[in-house]
Amino acid sequence: MHKSGFVNIIGKPNVGKSTLMNALVGEKLSIITPKAQTTRHRIRGILSGDDFQIVFSDTPGIIKPHYKLHEAMMQSVSDSFSDADVMLYVMEIKDPDPIDEKTLGRLKKSECKVMVLVNKIDTGNQDLLEKKVEEWKTILPHAEIIPVSALEKYNCEYLLKRIIENLPEGPAYFSKDEITDKSQRFFVSEIIREKILLYFRNEIPYCSEVVIDEFKEEEKLFRIRAIIYVQRESQQGIMVGHQGKGIKKIGIEARKDIEAFLGKQVFFTTQVKVEKDWREKESKLRKFGYLE
Ligand code: GDP
Ligand code: MG
Repeated sequence: MHKSGFVNIIGKPNVGKSTLMNALVGEKLSIITPKAQTTRHRIRGILSGDDFQIVFSDTPGIIKPHYKLHEAMMQSVSDSFSDADVMLYVMEIKDPDPIDEKTLGRLKKSECKVMVLVNKIDTGNQDLLEKKVEEWKTILPHAEIIPVSALEKYNCEYLLKRIIENLPEGPAYFSKDEITDKSQRFFVSEIIREKILLYFRNEIPYCSEVVIDEFKEEEKLFRIRAIIYVQRESQQGIMVGHQGKGIKKIGIEARKDIEAFLGKQVFFTTQVKVEKDWREKESKLRKFGYLE
């Protein structure tokens, strides 16, 4: 018998959704930083065995939308309710307010299997864990509650086993050697966005978007040109930095990771441009791939 299905990972920002998907798939597909809203797109990660295929979806953290980009991000969370065989709701063991009413309502109504993952248990203790598990049994009685540490990969084997047991019988939807539905080009832009999140403060990362303008594989190297869009000229100045130091640092750090990812030398150039208030404009969100 072959089992297959869609397992969607949702939860508040920063609870460890991307870390978990990477741990389960065994590859770094989603970028991870200590900052909220690191994940902007729904990213699929595929795990296949001889007799199963799991298609995970990592999603942006659930927030109240403040601008159109957020609305598009939250749409991808909503969509994840409609096509899941198993829903993984990830929460942090120490979060006193781990779920909003709307999401809770949807999980209660959801017809698919729901698992609540109490994550980051490496930061808590046994008493707290037992308390949390009891608490969730009353919050979501039909859910299965599983403590994990995505960072330390604790209990991930068991989680996988339970996921597979809950999958329906079905064919492989993707070829068995595929690990994601996203292109190399997409991951290159994500690597650059990760560096922006890591090296710039305040609103800069949230106002930036990376577009890979050229992506050419040649015999000995990849030729890649990235354009980083920001919302305003003042942000452009900060990002470029004095004597171009800001953008240079991003370039150096990103190139290392891109070369490791592509397994080839990379000739890499970046440019910073202003796309005024792009987060608010549907036409721009469409252009950047946030809207269908
Ligand atoms: P997301 O926003 O839900 O996708 O969260 P991320 O996967 O980006 O992780 C947010 C932060 O939490 C990162 O700094 C991770 O290293 C950290 N993190 C994730 N899982 C764990 C865990 O099990 N234990 C600890 N201590 N930290 C974790
Ligand atoms: Mg994430």
